[in-house]
Amino acid sequence: MMDDAKQSLVQASKPVIAIQGLSKSFGDLDVLKGIDLTVMKGENMAVLGKSGSGKSVLIKILVGLLKPDNGFVKVLGEEVADLPARELDALRLRIGFSFQNSALYDSMNVYQNLAFPLTMNFRKLTKKQVDDAVMEALEAVSLADKHNQMPSGLSGGQRKRIGIARTLILKPEIMLYDEPTSGLDPVTSTEINELINEVQTRYNTSAIIITHDLTCAKNTSHRVAMLLDGKFSKVGKFEEVFDSDDEQIRSFYNYNFI
Ligand code: ADP
Ligand code: MG
Repeated sequence: MMDDAKQSLVQASKPVIAIQGLSKSFGDLDVLKGIDLTVMKGENMAVLGKSGSGKSVLIKILVGLLKPDNGFVKVLGEEVADLPARELDALRLRIGFSFQNSALYDSMNVYQNLAFPLTMNFRKLTKKQVDDAVMEALEAVSLADKHNQMPSGLSGGQRKRIGIARTLILKPEIMLYDEPTSGLDPVTSTEINELINEVQTRYNTSAIIITHDLTCAKNTSHRVAMLLDGKFSKVGKFEEVFDSDDEQIRSFYNYNFI
């Protein structure tokens, strides 16, 4: 859990994500029905909701992969929906996106997987600069000794860590974690939760952590936002949100907190 000093520091900082009145439908299916959310600099925000509630749609809108029907979405001061393609690309480079299945390139070893985003970045980097960046990211996830390993030789938890290291290589200001602990055993989940906290401290990132793992939400986030019926019915500290008589919130808690 976050201590109070850290919590109040976050409250005093400025927003890095500001969402207002955001709605998104697919045909007759109204997924997001006018949501508001603000994430502050240095804040880890967990977004909770059952499967199919629109969590991944929200993340895709934040990085401009889907267009909102209505509302405003500002990320790092930019209105995402209005950005020309080149500026959208530039904005995406400031965001680390950790996918649900943390897809690594199977034909590349760990080093090559991590160096890849740097070569895509059209920056002229020396071999040493790339080496240093890769090793720093690997050290951040405590897997410096695995740089020669092929992905097939890694455990599920290690693959997740390498996936996170690959997003850290570009020094993101915002991390988006989509179900970071899904499919992991409790011990490995705990390690990923610790890693999310370490990343926040080491890189001073803000993060949205999409999850239905309440242990993950409780242990990594400053605040949680509960997506119910297309709206954030409650946003606040974990205990505040779940200290509720609301039947849907109680039932979500009872199903997902082990
Ligand atoms: P989750 O909360 O599990 O991440 P999603 O955000 O992926 O849920 O999806 C929310 C709903 O929107 C689902 O019913 C899904 O089928 C639908 N949906 C998501 N993307 C599309 C799309 N591109 N076209 C049509 N329907 C979609
Ligand atoms: Mg999803």
